[in-house]
Parts: sequence; C-alpha cells; structure tokens
Amino acid sequence: MIDVLALTQALLRADSVTPARGRVFDVLESALVPIGFTVDRFVVGEPPDGPVENMIALRPGGDRHLAFAGHVDVVPPGDGWTGSPWSGDVHGGLLHGRGAVDMKGAVAAFAAAASRATGPTLSMLITGDEEGPATYGTPVLIERMAARGIAPDLCLVGEPTSVARLGDMAKIGRRGSVNIWIDVPGRQGHVAYPHLADNPAGKLAQALAALQAMGLDHGNAWFQPSNLEITDITVGNPAHNVIPARASARLNIRFNDEQRGADLIDRVRAIVHEHAPGAVVEGKVSGEAFLTEPGAFTALMSAAIEVQTGLVPELSTSGGTSDARFLSKLCPTVEFGLINATMHQVDEAVAVADLETLTAIYADVIVRLTT
Ligand SMILES: [Zn+2]
Repeated sequence: MIDVLALTQALLRADSVTPARGRVFDVLESALVPIGFTVDRFVVGEPPDGPVENMIALRPGGDRHLAFAGHVDVVPPGDGWTGSPWSGDVHGGLLHGRGAVDMKGAVAAFAAAASRATGPTLSMLITGDEEGPATYGTPVLIERMAARGIAPDLCLVGEPTSVARLGDMAKIGRRGSVNIWIDVPGRQGHVAYPHLADNPAGKLAQALAALQAMGLDHGNAWFQPSNLEITDITVGNPAHNVIPARASARLNIRFNDEQRGADLIDRVRAIVHEHAPGAVVEGKVSGEAFLTEPGAFTALMSAAIEVQTGLVPELSTSGGTSDARFLSKLCPTVEFGLINATMHQVDEAVAVADLETLTAIYADVIVRLTT
C-alpha cells in the first residue's frame, strides 16, 4: 500500500516549476508500477512553452473506466518562505511545500487510493504543464489517449476545490473567459482647434459606458451571471493642449454556458462601433464555459465525500478556468480536491489529516464504481 504522506513528500522534494519533466515523474512512476499500472511517459514541445512531460498510467479492471487527471508542475515558489519550498517537512500536522495542495497532494492521494481499492479500470492522466501555457499539456494527453483508444467513462480532476473544510465544495463546471482589445484611432491636434482634429477619447469613454451598461444574462441554476470587467484604459497623452491620436482599452469577460466566446466578441464589436465606427476590436477566447449536469457521477462523488467528511459538497462553477475544460468534452467530469486557501501562496501547506481523508474519499469513489 502506498503511504500518502510519504509519496506527497517525495513529490514535493522533486522541484518541478512549470513546465515540468524528469524527476517528479520518476517518483510517480516508481509508485504506480508496483500497484499494477503500465506507465506511458512522453516529452513534447519546444521552447518557450516546452519541452513538457506527460504521463498516461493505466490499470485494467472492470467495465467502467475512471480517469484521474492532475498535474505535477507547480508555480514558482516566490520569496519569503519560512523554510525551503522543496523541504516536504511536517510541522504541527501541516506538510509544507510548493504544490502541497495544488496539486501533488491529490495526485499522491489518488495513487494511494488505487493501492487500497480495486474495481473499475483506472487511469491517471498527469501533465507537467497545467500552470504554464498548457500548450503541450492536457490537450496533447487527450490526443495521445484517442490514438491509443483510451476512453474514460468518468473523469475526476484533483484540483483543490475545497474552501474552508475538506469536502465543502466540488466543481461541476467553470465559466469561460475571453480577453478583448479595443483601439480607437483619432487625429491628433491642438485642443483650441478641435475642428482640425478628431478626439478618440470621448468615443472610447462612450463605448465603455455602453459596454458597462449592457446586461449579458441573468445566470442560471448552475452559473452566476456573465460579467464584463474593464481592465485597462490607455490614452498615453502627457500634454494639456493636445488632442490625442488614439485611445485604447482592454476588457475581460467571464461567461456562463449561455454564451459563446466568439459571439461575445461580436457583440462587443457592434456596441463599440455604434460609438466609435473606426475602432479595431480584437478578442481571444481562453476557454469556453462547460458544465457536467448533476447526475449519477456527481451523486456518487457527493455520497463518498459525505461519508468521509460529514459534509455535502456544494456543486459549484466558480473560480477561474481549469484543465477540466478539455476533459469535460470526453465524459462527465467533476473536480474535487484539497483546501485551496494557500495555493500559489508563500508557505503553501496541507493538513496531513486531509491527505488521509482525501485518500479515503478517492478510494470510496473507486469502490462505488465497481460493477
Ligand atoms: Zn492546479
């Protein structure tokens, strides 16, 4: 049986700032092979986004196939840690290290659960590039799975979804995100001779006011209303007596499953053009919204969480985007993991007791999927 604390410590001690490869994967492979997994590791990509290592570990079992998806790369530790960010030391019941909650702890917990429980076919889809651009991460893993004919029925993503106590929240979807750039050209001139110039600043202000006033939707049973935020306004004019030549702004929209990113870009462009006909509006969709409608899998997850923690998890779609956006295209996908309070922070830490409880929850899910 795999000891979850020892495996998490070994993973933490293998420094793996994104994009990750090598030693941290060696540690995981040497834990998984003795419990029956066959491990397929592959390195892809060129600088600057690569090279990245990914792993598909597979253990055949019953008819149903549960995939656990996670990452072993971490964000840079930053300055000001009490001890070394790679120490894996335990103090007062807390295990410290970059990646303890996001998400080496959950990766170790699933491996430990697989060493205790059998039943369904299990796979572990582990990327070394979730925290970075993800160019060579989960999308590449999914391509490789398709080429090998590996098709999970259910996917559990081990991101840290719990808020105040382990078990209080799981995620069944995420909002989409789109970034939009607006550039309003004008004609520079003297403020005393406005008929000889064309001021873009007022047009941009009117366009932004109209965008702020635009209601996108009212949200629905599983999502909050879509929301637009102005993130930058730039005119860049140091003079008092000059009409500026251009004005620009940036926006971000976090949107629910009633919207599509490309449609939002079109809507913003149309509103901007009402106030600034010559404006250039460009957009980039970072991810579409997705949802796994509550059903048998979410009920099974909730039951396992409640048995082990006494808490019925809130099924949420809050927070930023995650790799679940890729996996949810394959099969019903739920995210559940440790308490996220210290993720990406200095002195990231996880309660050792939570590692044990998370292992018990994951093992319970595996057992409940036995046919
Ligand atoms: Zn993460």
